Amino acid sequence: MAKILPQPSAPGWLAEPKKRAAFHALLAAWFARHGRDLPWRRTHDPYAILVSELMLQQTQVATVLPYYARWLEIFPTVRALAAAPEAEVLRAWEGLGYYARARNLHRAAKAIVEQHGGKFPRTLSEIAALPGVGRYTAGAVASFAFDLAAPIVDANVARVLARLLDLALPINTAAGKNALWSTAEVLLPDAGENGASPRCFNSALMELGALLCRARAPQCLLCPVRAFCAAFAAKTQGQRPVKTARRATVLLQEDCAWICDRDRVLLQQETGSRWRGLWKLPPLLPAGVSPPGELPLVQLTYPFTHHRVTLRVFRAEIPHAPLADQHWQPRAALDTLAFAAPHRRALRQLLKLHADPALT
Ligand code: SF4
Repeated sequence: MAKILPQPSAPGWLAEPKKRAAFHALLAAWFARHGRDLPWRRTHDPYAILVSELMLQQTQVATVLPYYARWLEIFPTVRALAAAPEAEVLRAWEGLGYYARARNLHRAAKAIVEQHGGKFPRTLSEIAALPGVGRYTAGAVASFAFDLAAPIVDANVARVLARLLDLALPINTAAGKNALWSTAEVLLPDAGENGASPRCFNSALMELGALLCRARAPQCLLCPVRAFCAAFAAKTQGQRPVKTARRATVLLQEDCAWICDRDRVLLQQETGSRWRGLWKLPPLLPAGVSPPGELPLVQLTYPFTHHRVTLRVFRAEIPHAPLADQHWQPRAALDTLAFAAPHRRALRQLLKLHADPALT
């Protein structure tokens, strides 16, 4: 099939079926030898693949592995996940961060049960219509589960493609993204084309980005497709991909209260969009006023988008009337609640300190 080049300056080999076939064969042979044996690569179950894809967004493979196994034990099917209460879903996700991903997974499972009778949809457009499923995730599930010719562009693929094209456009702009998606589409083999498969091709391209075409120090001399790489030829691989400048980091402070009454701790359930449904330490009131001369019991920092937040926890008095979203929780129940990750870290430190009679 004739393919349209993503842009006039794209390498000419992209338009030549034989050269694309040679590219596919070299990449597939390398992947067969060097691709990692990951559990989501052993399955064609679209639900398990969707779980892995959402977990892998913004999180490293090594971190995801135990969560993925445990999640599929707790929620082995779409129906099991759809039937679970949100608190249980958030608890199973706790520690992975970016909880919107867990909520989206839950919403997608409910939509599959309600709109598709519990059967995972099999077309790219139906998968893309699931709540919280974007273009990348839809392509990943369609190609990995059903071997559909659906392109994908994640951070690893973007880096590889930007180097193959020697793309001077910033990849975080609309024009840059368009060039990458069109290239992914042109490069993708149809199922069965020259014995290639979209499932294998997409996995291999991602793996090339993860193992060889890394952000720093790409291993070009080991790369199976360096003969096709415009950046390698131009010796510009260290300058690709181009990105527009990141926003400057903004420092924030979050002061919270440790309020303990014998074996109960006062906690607050978040209602805002960031951590909705998760538990956290209540804010210190009045806001922004730390107790004069008092040192925090616990202090830690955590990143949040382009912010760096310092979380400080001070001992505080038992309030006359807790706020509507604040509740006393028995210490014995704390492990069963889903916490915002920085607050769980602070709580663990506080509970260790709590053995100190001066804090009780
Ligand atoms: S030759 Fe180097 S820069 Fe080009 S795709 Fe391979 S690893 Fe990446």
